[in-house]
Amino acid sequence: MSADFGHNDSAASIASHACAMRANLRPSMSSQPEPTIDRRQVLAGSLAGASALALGCKSPSSSTPAAPAALLAMTTQAAPFALPALPYADTALEPVMSAKTFSFHYAKHHKAYVDNLNNLVKDNAELASMSLEALVKKMAGDSTKAGVFNNAAQVWNHTFFWHSMRPGGGGAPKGRMLEKINASFGDYEKFKTAFSDAAKTQFGSGWAWLVEDGGKLAVHKTGNAETPMTAGKKCLLTLDVWEHAYYLDFQNRRPDYITAFLDKLVNWEFAEKNLG
Ligand code: FE
Repeated sequence: MSADFGHNDSAASIASHACAMRANLRPSMSSQPEPTIDRRQVLAGSLAGASALALGCKSPSSSTPAAPAALLAMTTQAAPFALPALPYADTALEPVMSAKTFSFHYAKHHKAYVDNLNNLVKDNAELASMSLEALVKKMAGDSTKAGVFNNAAQVWNHTFFWHSMRPGGGGAPKGRMLEKINASFGDYEKFKTAFSDAAKTQFGSGWAWLVEDGGKLAVHKTGNAETPMTAGKKCLLTLDVWEHAYYLDFQNRRPDYITAFLDKLVNWEFAEKNLG
């Protein structure tokens, strides 16, 4: 498993609420009109916390305790895929990232990837039975299934991105992460420069990543929906540098968005958990 999106000790108590949210947000698999997500649902969903994605949702009547979030994540969930709840309120990252940005980036863009993916796999039993992560890995490099890969990877990448930020985040990490940063880059400022350069120089749409590769940390950039996960790297953090990620708050100032992410949003606790 490449990432643990569940890092809330009260996962069991949150599970039923999160799963209920997911059921409410589950996209239509038929020709019925798509359900709409209103702001209240997004806010309520945010309270379900980071565990929402990581839950192998069980029915509310199940007597089996929710499995530890860390064991589940996207490795177990098959189609129909659901839009995971945000790990915080859509206002929680203001003023750096506005609720208006979330209303488009999460509630429309991310949701559209989920809906597209469900539509693409609904008539393919093999693909529909696979977990999101397995789909991303299996479809990578298969030009005949580019649509499935692009949408599956974008669902995965966006969920990973939301968790790569937190209210009051940013700045240099502490403890184990700082040690790893220093060992791999020299010091935190050198890491910042490397990450910022990758995010700035990704031409067009894509992502900047902090990964672990062979015991060392490294910075990568990928285009469109690509993810270092398909090359066997362990993803620790990501920054979405598609224009839809920052245009409402920063317009064309991608460098300012990158600086704000590093100084005010980045979630080092999430990165450390992903180290395993
Ligand atoms: Fe995006």
